[in-house]
Amino acid sequence: MSASGHHLRVDVAVVGGGIAALWILDALDEAGFSAALVEPGSLGRGQTLSSQGIIHGGLKYTLRGLFTGAAEAISLMPERWRRALAGGGRPNLAAARVRSPSTWLWRSSSLGSKLALLGARSALRARPIEVERRDRPAILANAPGTVYRVDEPVLDTTSVVAAFRAIHAERMLSVAGLEGVRAVRPVDGASGGGQAAFALELVGRDGRAHRIDADAVVLAAGAWNEPLRALAGAPAKAMQRRPLHMAMVRGALSELHGHCVDGAATRVTISTSTDASGRSVWQLGGQLAEEGVRRSPEELLATARHELAQVLPDFDPIAAKAEWTTYRIDRAERAAGGLRPDDAQCLDDGPRGCLTVWPTKLALAPRAADLVLDRLALLGIEPHGPIRFAQPLEQPAIGAAPWDRALDDHDGTVHWIDDDRLLRATGARS
Ligand SMILES: Cc1cc2nc3c(=O)[nH]c(=O)nc-3n(C[C@H](O)[C@H](O)[C@H](O)COP(=O)(O)OP(=O)(O)OC[C@H]3O[C@@H](n4cnc5c(N)ncnc54)[C@H](O)[C@@H]3O)c2cc1C
Repeated sequence: MSASGHHLRVDVAVVGGGIAALWILDALDEAGFSAALVEPGSLGRGQTLSSQGIIHGGLKYTLRGLFTGAAEAISLMPERWRRALAGGGRPNLAAARVRSPSTWLWRSSSLGSKLALLGARSALRARPIEVERRDRPAILANAPGTVYRVDEPVLDTTSVVAAFRAIHAERMLSVAGLEGVRAVRPVDGASGGGQAAFALELVGRDGRAHRIDADAVVLAAGAWNEPLRALAGAPAKAMQRRPLHMAMVRGALSELHGHCVDGAATRVTISTSTDASGRSVWQLGGQLAEEGVRRSPEELLATARHELAQVLPDFDPIAAKAEWTTYRIDRAERAAGGLRPDDAQCLDDGPRGCLTVWPTKLALAPRAADLVLDRLALLGIEPHGPIRFAQPLEQPAIGAAPWDRALDDHDGTVHWIDDDRLLRATGARS
């Protein structure tokens, strides 16, 4: 092994290893570009492994009765993902685990939530389907009003990341954190003709210096795009963070994926995962997590317990031997005045050939890849065919999901508290 590490020449270097970078890497490869992915942490760390894994078809965006730009872009996504999951094309995600082919939609008892559901139904490509009382899952047996089934698949995102890794590991390079990306340097006077436009100076986990020369660089590292853009000389303030405070419950829980809607808002979105010890974990998102940002962990858990009693009258935390915890995380997106952007975003505002991508949603990762390919074509950056690297690269590991962080040295321990202790600590407020 040389002390100076790898020196790679590719058409496109992709920095990041969440869903955006992974989908883009596959799309570049399919389009005939040679590409390498640089992961400064572990694959999926950041938002992707925290995500609730729902491949939205736009329902959430039509609750106000409007078919917005966001709803239009996202309405095509479930079908696109289904094709990938069926293994019929690129990317081939047949190895990924679909936790559920659909979600449930139910409402709390307010009249407003009934009207919002009607508005949403009229605007959607995949309309929620009313289910007979006998076909409801047991946990929704006593939900008020109609329960709907929505055609939006729910994925185990760890298995999605693993599926991409299995296909593309040979073109993935692990570097030593963000400090491991020393420079994303435009090459002075590069004018095509085989000369690379960018030099990436990198440091591997073993301290070796690597270099990647590329015609284009795609920054697709979620919240870490901000420091990376500064490094590449792209303008500041292009990114926004919209924070969440997620509550989690683990115990004897039924598999449930869906949204309880109240008025025009998603009161709680519940998704089910399995932790490394085989326990079921519910993640509680939606309004609960957005408003939870202002709450301490203890306050959020008291509210979460109270909310579950309202939206899932049949859930008994004592019988489920529930344990509770929370974590904070930011959604990293292209700046849009604090509102969610309508679509995936690909910014081309830095040195020529340096693109920054935020998919906005897990579901929109295919759109992010489309936008990158379109932009490369506009810039006249052409594919020169896939290549094999002379030496195997040090490949990044897959990150740990938030419910398994106790197993991940970098994250410290997540403390779960049992239901008794939660009641004692917060009884007065719950
Ligand atoms: C709690 C939560 C739930 C969500 N649920 C859904 C959902 O159900 N459906 C949906 O469509 N969308 C959902 N989203 C949104 C979705 O998860 C994101 O839009 C998407 O995952 C963003 O992907 P990304 O590749 O841009 O970024 P990320 O997933 O954040 O990836 C960033 C990558 O950069 C790497 N990286 C760069 N620098 C560093 C560094 N210094 N240290 C460590 N790592 C570094 C990370 O390792 C990681 O690989 C959710 C988001 C959150 C936060």
